[in-house]
Amino acid sequence: MIYLFNDPAQFADELAEGYAAAHRDKIRRVDGGVIRRHKAKPGQVVVIIGGGSGHYPAFGGFVGQGLAHGAALGNVFAAPSAQQICNVAHAVDAGGGILFCYANYAGDVLNFTQAQERLRARGIDVRSVVVTDDIASAPLHEHYKRRGIAGTLAVFKAAAVAADAGKPLDEAVRIATAVNDRVRSLGVAFFGCTLPGAAKPLFEVAPGIMEVGMGIHGEPGLDRIKAPSADELAEMLVGKLLAEIPVTVNNVSGARVGVILNGLGAVKYEELFVVYRKIEQLLTARGLTIVAPVVDEMITSFDMAGVSLTLFWLNDELEQSWLAAADTPAFHRGVIVYDNFAMNHDAEPKESRDNHLIKPGSAQSQGAATIVLAALKAALEAIEAQQDELGRLDAIAGDGDHGIGMQRGLTAAVEAVGTAIAAQAGAGAALIAAGDAWSDRAGGTSGMLWGVILRNLGNAVGDESKPDTAMIATGVATALQAVIDLGKAQLNDKTLVDVLHPFSIALMKSTTQGLSMAEAWTAAAEIAGQSAEATKNLIPKIGRARPHADKSIGNPDPGAVSMALIIDAVGKIIGKHCFFDARSQDLTE
Ligand code: ADP
Ligand code: MG
Repeated sequence: MIYLFNDPAQFADELAEGYAAAHRDKIRRVDGGVIRRHKAKPGQVVVIIGGGSGHYPAFGGFVGQGLAHGAALGNVFAAPSAQQICNVAHAVDAGGGILFCYANYAGDVLNFTQAQERLRARGIDVRSVVVTDDIASAPLHEHYKRRGIAGTLAVFKAAAVAADAGKPLDEAVRIATAVNDRVRSLGVAFFGCTLPGAAKPLFEVAPGIMEVGMGIHGEPGLDRIKAPSADELAEMLVGKLLAEIPVTVNNVSGARVGVILNGLGAVKYEELFVVYRKIEQLLTARGLTIVAPVVDEMITSFDMAGVSLTLFWLNDELEQSWLAAADTPAFHRGVIVYDNFAMNHDAEPKESRDNHLIKPGSAQSQGAATIVLAALKAALEAIEAQQDELGRLDAIAGDGDHGIGMQRGLTAAVEAVGTAIAAQAGAGAALIAAGDAWSDRAGGTSGMLWGVILRNLGNAVGDESKPDTAMIATGVATALQAVIDLGKAQLNDKTLVDVLHPFSIALMKSTTQGLSMAEAWTAAAEIAGQSAEATKNLIPKIGRARPHADKSIGNPDPGAVSMALIIDAVGKIIGKHCFFDARSQDLTE
């Protein structure tokens, strides 16, 4: 149970504020996360980590000398937005390229990938290494699907050591990848966790039972067994990790390993030490040499009761990085020499906000921007009317935040378009501002995807000519492709793609038939509504809902339903504000 909080919606922000205030000597807060207090050397690589809040010391606790240069911090258990990641990146960029290192969760992959694309478009060399150490989350032949847990520490540390040694980006990527290939973890849980302000636990484990392999957000594990003694647990963890030794380790006997025994929140240090005692005996008996073990909390989930064990199979090069000094609020090793010339990040970092200056659009396009605003307002109204129902649908198999997330995203989008219009934005710039604001503020997978959809529409529409039916149909088609590229959802996976795909095809078809914008949109909107309803019968194969697939049958997908609602609301605005000019087929107020 979490006892101390104010407004649960402010919890992540308030904890970041307090954390930064408590460690002013080592870190500072920037828009989107925290960065090292001391600047990186000009021309060197910087390492940016990140993830949801609520796992301290992961991830903000690992920012400082010898470890990450910056961390993007999302909401509680929600990935940081691409905008937050870009902001942190701009704040620490030293000109030598950026390495993103993060644990493998769908929301984090989507947002870091999006941020990587945006930064690359600005000429910054960005690469990513995704940590996949949790052996319970997928079989070895699908190791790239595995989640990241406490092994992240080893990967972050090696990446940062390489970066601070002045190695080029390729080298830092090679080393971080080599660590990921040699780090294996397994976790167990005795009890779930309750998020700040929640009335009941996010997930539960039956009393007297231990879930083997349960994830840090309650993802289902491999096995459910009677809770063991400390020694029996040590035997089980060591046994399973030694059953999967990386192929690059030639001789187990004589091998050197870094060890992390991580407490998930409610397991006390004393209990960890009792378990570690046996782990050490077992590893030593197998002929392994333990190097610089960590018995501590490294990645937690509030009051979740559980532990994870990580083995990091060292070689000479990786042992150096494992042993290198570090001095962050949550992780200390050896002695860091702060050289006298290290400059403080005192002033607000330049470009801390990732804002684009708006160039005035043509008069025609500015007119269309006001229709964009009206359409978003109508969409917001439609979502607010169904907000509770969307939350209920998401809670059946997901986390229940879809209604609130959509409301937050659309509210931010409406506000951003208002500001953009005041700066004489055309329709394209207005849509792009809406998309940025939406994905920045909504959080969640759908927030990120809606940001992508609006940005693609904005790019297709541009700021010069009046948007016409063909431009919009093309924008919807490119948006669909971008959503599929990023989210990897196929048709019938029970996501918003099951609405966007038929909508896009219908819109394109009407365009070729020469229908007016209002007619084309109305016809396609009807298909969107039917498609959303039809998701009732589908089984989710992707996203948070996947592990609880059976519960979702009979209920439509929340993201599909909200998309159909928005399409319908926008159609009414198009019908009201726009008439069809048969010769130019364009949108006119
Ligand atoms: P989260 O799942 O992060 O809590 P939301 O609750 O806001 O995000 O949104 C859930 C919706 O997002 C789902 O109903 C589904 O329509 C959509 N979604 C989830 N994953 C994907 C994906 N990979 N591709 C497309 N849509 C997805
Ligand atoms: Mg959700």
